[in-house]
Amino acid sequence: MNEVSPLLRVTDLVKHYRVGRRALRAVDGVTLEVARGETLGLVGESGCGKSTLGRLICCLEPPTSGSVVFDGVDVLALPERELRRMRPRMQLIFQDPFASLNPHKTVRQIVGLPLQLWERSKGEELRRRVDELLETVGIDPRQADRFPHQFSGGQRQRIGIARALACKPDLIVADEPVASLDVSIQAQILQVMRDLRQRFSLTTIFISHDVSVVSHVSDRIAVMYLGKVVEIGPAQSVIARSLHPYSRALVGAVPRVGAEEGPEAPRLKGEPPSPLAVPSGCRFHPRCYLNQAAECRQVEPELRALAPGHLVACHLAAG
Ligand code: SF4
Repeated sequence: MNEVSPLLRVTDLVKHYRVGRRALRAVDGVTLEVARGETLGLVGESGCGKSTLGRLICCLEPPTSGSVVFDGVDVLALPERELRRMRPRMQLIFQDPFASLNPHKTVRQIVGLPLQLWERSKGEELRRRVDELLETVGIDPRQADRFPHQFSGGQRQRIGIARALACKPDLIVADEPVASLDVSIQAQILQVMRDLRQRFSLTTIFISHDVSVVSHVSDRIAVMYLGKVVEIGPAQSVIARSLHPYSRALVGAVPRVGAEEGPEAPRLKGEPPSPLAVPSGCRFHPRCYLNQAAECRQVEPELRALAPGHLVACHLAAG
């Protein structure tokens, strides 16, 4: 990882939504960096704030506070016009490929639109570029004049990836890109993403609730719980040697990737608390299976380094 000049630096990012008189704390102070060419996996249960974080990073909605520095530029301080120019460099790939593709447009129109908008491509040049992009993701260009509903779920996700690539992005935020696909198709899409990463030196944030999926594509993994990152580090360490009780339970629930296979692996009980009522102290304490210290209920643990590049927010975790 390039420590000197990360492509993305997020500092103390917060997104609270007003719900009546209360604040829904979707993202509650996230700080992280992503190096150029790196894939950071962002994993956690549904509702932990990982998708909101992805949208904040892509500037699709403004944060409540905090900063997003992309390629050295504080994007939240940019005037709208300059932000628009920056946007193609940060592309989001969505979970539901069908909902994200306009059903009334052909695939050629869908993939061609960003080329027309951002590169003023037209005519034969536009046609050639669309064909190239479709070939890159394994779609036969002869099918380009079909509509999205004429493709399978996996093919539609490939088309969504081709559309994202049309902007020549530096950063791709892939939000649960394989969650709606069959397992065999998931493997194909993950392979497409790995190939593209190598070919185009892409930097990727890969969001998933599935630890096994994230473990297959990530250089580093950040584990989110109730709006916060509770553990972040090299993928191998986070998977094989999770240090936060929440991460250990997440990883333990997937025996084929977990170091703690078998009945002794800790299991998560119950649902996460509502982000409208975040527990005091360590927000994981109502579900934590360890013998907690008094401070667990009173003092929010900060991320601290317990191994090189491996940070954990738990009072009791030891390297
Ligand atoms: Fe459990 Fe305490 Fe660590 Fe939180 S700080 S995860 S409650 S041991």
